[in-house]
Amino acid sequence: MSVLAQFALNNLLPALLAGSLAWAFVHAAVRVLGIRHGRLRLCLYAAPLLKSTLVLLGLLPVLPWPREIFGPWWAQALPVETVLPWFILSTGLLILGQWFARDRARRRLLAGSNSQAPPRLVQSLDRVMDAYRNNVERIVGRCRFDGVPARPNLRAIHRDLRGPAVVFGEEPVIVFPAAMVESLSDPELDASLAHEVAHVYLRQPASCFSAENVRAMSAANPFGALIAAQLHREEEKACDDIAVDVLSNRDDYADMLIRVYRLGRSSAANPSLRYAHQLLGTGPMFSERIEHLLARDDTSASSWERVAFGAVWIVLLAVFFAGLIAAFVL
Ligand SMILES: [Zn+2]
Repeated sequence: MSVLAQFALNNLLPALLAGSLAWAFVHAAVRVLGIRHGRLRLCLYAAPLLKSTLVLLGLLPVLPWPREIFGPWWAQALPVETVLPWFILSTGLLILGQWFARDRARRRLLAGSNSQAPPRLVQSLDRVMDAYRNNVERIVGRCRFDGVPARPNLRAIHRDLRGPAVVFGEEPVIVFPAAMVESLSDPELDASLAHEVAHVYLRQPASCFSAENVRAMSAANPFGALIAAQLHREEEKACDDIAVDVLSNRDDYADMLIRVYRLGRSSAANPSLRYAHQLLGTGPMFSERIEHLLARDDTSASSWERVAFGAVWIVLLAVFFAGLIAAFVL
């Protein structure tokens, strides 16, 4: 059997199966235990990707049991010394390719933007950044690397844009449709900017389980492509929760989403925005987010959610990452 066939059969196939099993477990646990808090969910939904990547590298079997089935399969996997250099190389190349595509799209988009954002928009971002600084303890988790994000650049844009978006590159830039600035009230402007700043917050590379780290992990793992849409949904909901936590205005926030949706419905989506995070996302995601926001009285995680989150991680570590813990302990 060729090396490539051996990799496909004994590394890739088990990686897809392991990721799917972990995904099914997390999905069922989140639903049954009623974990609705955005950041906790995002952290849980990243676990199947981590598991799948470790199986792809030949570091873990699909499951520790039944040993007779998964043990021999794992024994035939290409070892980590063989897979890791190729994994790092392909991940590096893919991330570099994505970076160039994103940078090109960003240049095209910003070429039509006004570097001078309207004063109302600048004042709104001032208020939002103040709110982030004043409420940092509400949003910062237990990750010691997390902190208030740096103030992103701000541009008003005159081209067709369905709503505000954040464009990542060397420095994140929030682009805002110029026409929409006039149509939104101050609280609505604050709410939409708070959502975009939340994306910047979640993408801090040093942050635990940041969307950027998850993206890097999924670049060369086909399982990442399978769950990309779901992870994107979870990131949007986590950003909604962070924005509401920071501004403490859940109903205003939901009103803002509906209003931006109505205002943006007539505009065609700008093709340059393929690599941007837009406030509205896609249709089904939009209604799901409104429901997510209004289904709970408080966006901060309840004690029950924290306990349930911890319990799910204990099961994940014991069942899906068991071999890894044993390797560290022994
Ligand atoms: Zn968003």
